[in-house]
Amino acid sequence: MSSIPDTIERDGGDLPPLLLKPQEERRLQAGHLWVFSNEVNVAATPLTGFTPGQHVQLRSSRDHFLGYAYVNPRTLISARLLGRDPAFPPGKSLLVHRFKVALALRERLYTSPFYRLAFGEADLLPGLVVDRYGSVLVAQIGTAGMEVMKEEILEALVQVVKPEAVLWKNDSPIRELEGIERYVETAMGKVPDLVEVPEGGVTFRVPLASGQKTGWYFDQSANRALVARYAKDARMLDVFSYAGSFGLQAARAGAAEVTCVDSSESALEAAAATAAANGLDVELVKGDAFDMLEALHADRRKFDLVVIDPPAFIKRRKDHPKGLAAYRRLNQLAMQLLDRDGLLLSCSCSYHLAPGELTDSVQRASRHLGRFAQLIAVGAQSPDHPVHPAVDETRYLRAFLFRVVDTC
Ligand code: SAH
Repeated sequence: MSSIPDTIERDGGDLPPLLLKPQEERRLQAGHLWVFSNEVNVAATPLTGFTPGQHVQLRSSRDHFLGYAYVNPRTLISARLLGRDPAFPPGKSLLVHRFKVALALRERLYTSPFYRLAFGEADLLPGLVVDRYGSVLVAQIGTAGMEVMKEEILEALVQVVKPEAVLWKNDSPIRELEGIERYVETAMGKVPDLVEVPEGGVTFRVPLASGQKTGWYFDQSANRALVARYAKDARMLDVFSYAGSFGLQAARAGAAEVTCVDSSESALEAAAATAAANGLDVELVKGDAFDMLEALHADRRKFDLVVIDPPAFIKRRKDHPKGLAAYRRLNQLAMQLLDRDGLLLSCSCSYHLAPGELTDSVQRASRHLGRFAQLIAVGAQSPDHPVHPAVDETRYLRAFLFRVVDTC
């Protein structure tokens, strides 16, 4: 921190200060990026004096420069740090630098340009994700502070990545809490309705503007490869399948049969189109996963490999009790369908579900059903979703592969 001067020229647009209370800079100095409202010296710098998304200089209680941040007086997280170098105020050059650093990681990790290019806080770009589909980018802004920089984000992406088309997929519900509207719009070029994503030997057809989130769940790609290793000759069930990403890769890897379950018609249509284009066979079941798992059980269906990858049942901490109950029930319903010596990949993308709570859900299910579960592999979010070790919320994806046998 010694290279940061105590006071700085208020260039970078003469940004106003946001002062912290005594001791409240510690977490930030240890690497975290968030400021909560109770940490702000509101007597000196009232949060109500800022507009949502306004850029500030974050300063310690002793008025030392901590970094540049953006503020939102409406949200629980009052400010998020954008950068600690006084020479780089929020703006295009900072963004160009961030995208170059982010791109360098993905280019080391992947041989083809299909990945999450920028993952919010974990790439020091709080509130922004960008996915790359070859020459097409899909960007999603989640905060007012990033929305303010929308034009500069686009310019920086164009400069660093040189895409042919960019889509703003700014329709996440969290934007409402930030006080910014939800919309989907083309930022530049001609954005195709569908893109092709090569993964695990399958060329997936992925809807962009009409797809879920940013189109493709890149975070699960490593876990899909993990599952494919065990797919040969298996009767495989892919629950919450979206566009069939787990199931069709298992089919490609030699699964005997594949069944995909999802409540979204358009997701299953994408899965059907991919299956047809790749010469793969799949059974598609549309409906609520809980109901469909019960129906499959009633039909005495059995599987050797089951993947459950539900949407986040615990979006906010207060949803925890209900969400945990849903994970427990789901794991039990899934295990019921496993044949002798079957494999279950149990996933959760709820940050608020502790990893141990998910393994415990599987363990409880095994006891309830008089079976024995062994954890044989621990999956993680793919490395294009790096974890910021000081911001635990960036480590959100849990995936556990269990073998389930009949002896107890
Ligand atoms: N496994 C997918 C991602 C799944 S995302 C992949 O790796 O790409 C969660 C999916 O669950 C979405 O496709 C959504 O349509 C579906 N979904 C949400 N609630 C559901 C429910 N109650 N029953 C069945 N599917 C549901």
